[in-house]
Amino acid sequence: MFGKMKEFLQKELQALEEQKLYKHERIIESPQAAKIIVRGKEVLNFCANNYLGLSSHPELVKAAHEALDRRGFGLSSVRFICGTQDIHKELERKMSEFLGTEDTILFSSCFDANGAVFEPLFQEEDAIITDALNHASIIDGIRLAKAKRWIYKHSDMRDVEEEDPATGKMAKGLERCLKEANEAGCRFKVIATDSVFSMDGDIAKLDKICDLAEKYDALVMIDESHSSGFMGKTGRGVHELYGIMDRIDIITTTFGKALGGASGGCISGRKEIIDWMRNKARPYLFSNTVAPAVVGATIKCLEILTASTELRDKLEENTKKFRKAMTEAGFDILPGIHPITPIMFGKYPNCSQLAVDFANRMLEEGVYVVAFSFPVVPRGKDRIRVQISAAHESEHIDFAIEKFIKVGKELGVI
Ligand SMILES: *Cc1c(COP(=O)(O)O)cnc(C)c1O
Repeated sequence: MFGKMKEFLQKELQALEEQKLYKHERIIESPQAAKIIVRGKEVLNFCANNYLGLSSHPELVKAAHEALDRRGFGLSSVRFICGTQDIHKELERKMSEFLGTEDTILFSSCFDANGAVFEPLFQEEDAIITDALNHASIIDGIRLAKAKRWIYKHSDMRDVEEEDPATGKMAKGLERCLKEANEAGCRFKVIATDSVFSMDGDIAKLDKICDLAEKYDALVMIDESHSSGFMGKTGRGVHELYGIMDRIDIITTTFGKALGGASGGCISGRKEIIDWMRNKARPYLFSNTVAPAVVGATIKCLEILTASTELRDKLEENTKKFRKAMTEAGFDILPGIHPITPIMFGKYPNCSQLAVDFANRMLEEGVYVVAFSFPVVPRGKDRIRVQISAAHESEHIDFAIEKFIKVGKELGVI
């Protein structure tokens, strides 16, 4: 029976290859770290979400071992049947403390958390208002809910509807969407946004979003996956950076990036919302518990980050240093403060190929970075997305800058 589909898929896969859209995996033969082994060769890694350098941190590895020894490998159960251990409750408590929220519920991933969060809360008579550049998992989560949906132009707070020159389509600002949701008589409204957008490293205007939420009686849901652990003075997230911790109703985040990088995620926020999730969230009710080793190491991670801001401070310094040197060298860098540092190639002819060639040359020079082209980013916004880490030492940053300048001159980019 597979014959017809086999033929179809073979053709489609070949088309992907021809369009250079086929996703090839690069095999790493070492733990995740500042220095990794790729095809037998040691290279500096500048493209992981290992923001705090905790992915292979000895204390986390030790904590994972201890949890494995004391609580076993797996639970073979969902949480509410016989899959909740003391350490799961401890992590939920510690996460609430860390984020400054009332309660937290764990999921196997943030993808699951975002898939879970909307459907039990928002029905036909409700409104979900979502940034056009939100993460795929938020988009999917919203699809699962029966609520009405408004999409606002990325980070556009205005009460307007106008043609977006980038797409030629009509696009609305957030305030216009809120007004329309009010006019439609929606019962509950929620504004959903990434707090940091992963392609540009830009930060949602959470202060303005909270002001609008208040004006139009809406809840605020943020996904802090690219900020938990290091954004804000003590690394609690973008909600700390803006000083609006008490104005956010729902936070989702991942343990798979800065917070140890293994897997797992959570929904955190108002007590009644989390309680409702424990009763209604489908990935919580019908999917297995987070493994004890991951839970034990993530608890340790939060302890390390609560005891000292050393790692997030180092990350901030590394980021400033890299962004400054690259800007001075003449690269086209999207401005900002986030360790995601996009180096843009759009102003050069044949920018897609140039970005790919550039990344390949960098790998030959011992620096692992990745090029992003259409359809991952809009046409003409081709880039190399560098991600800085607290695992990088000063000399690693210097080395990367030196190689960027070398290859930049070689390829006529600077
Ligand atoms: C990475 C990411 C996720 C997915 O997190 P996982 O725990 O890996 O599933 C969700 N949302 C955002 C914004 C992300 O960047």
